Amino acid sequence: MIFDTHAHYDDARFDEDRDAVIASLKENDVRHFVDVASDLPSIEKVERIVEKYPESYGALGIHPSELDGVSEKDLKEIEEKIRNNKRIVAVGEIGLDYYWEENPPHDVQKKFFRYQLEMARRLKKPVIIHSREAAQDTFEIMKEMRAEEIGGVVHCYSYSKEMAKEYVKMGFYIGIGGVVTFKNSKKLKEIAAEIPLERIVLETDCPYLAPSPHRGERNYSGFLPLVAAEIAELRGVTIDEVCNTTYQNALRLYNV
Ligand SMILES: [Zn+2]
Repeated sequence: MIFDTHAHYDDARFDEDRDAVIASLKENDVRHFVDVASDLPSIEKVERIVEKYPESYGALGIHPSELDGVSEKDLKEIEEKIRNNKRIVAVGEIGLDYYWEENPPHDVQKKFFRYQLEMARRLKKPVIIHSREAAQDTFEIMKEMRAEEIGGVVHCYSYSKEMAKEYVKMGFYIGIGGVVTFKNSKKLKEIAAEIPLERIVLETDCPYLAPSPHRGERNYSGFLPLVAAEIAELRGVTIDEVCNTTYQNALRLYNV
């Protein structure tokens, strides 16, 4: 059984064939996915997805690159939506993204990150962390905010092995997807081989980051067996063990 802990089936790239793609997931043993919001328009789209597809759960939050025009009132509304919908299982994706030079400014990103961590604490929901080229600031804010009491996943993990171990110590899960199958991702392969399997969850981030040999194509949860196979190979265990353990991890992560 496979649990895709991070998908964006609300994305326009699934508008043509969303029903067919989601219906096909069971052919690859994918039982559940969490559809993750990123900007304000995606909030309602995620709500529609969880209403329509029984195998789905949702996460609501604002991505650090999508903060333009987002007000405190918007965040209060998101908090109420999460409180009133049992199928929304996490706050996300939230975090810091310094890839685009000061856009939005770092202090704005940090303010929203702290606010949404606090929101997750109030809601007693785990967080889905997006962090790109902001390793130190992300870690410092999570320490400062005592994120170990909130829990969650560092999605599409892209930092050092040492930091992965710190997040594991904090009780966080490490989200691993298609990138681990790429030839040049030596660091991530080491992490996938070495951190406890009980702390790894599978994710697509679809439509992005399809695994080899589909790199560059539209990604979907049906490609996750390729990610599981790579992790199994790196660890010297069976694909079944990777799928079943990470499936149980995902149930624990999202309290479902
Ligand atoms: Zn994402």
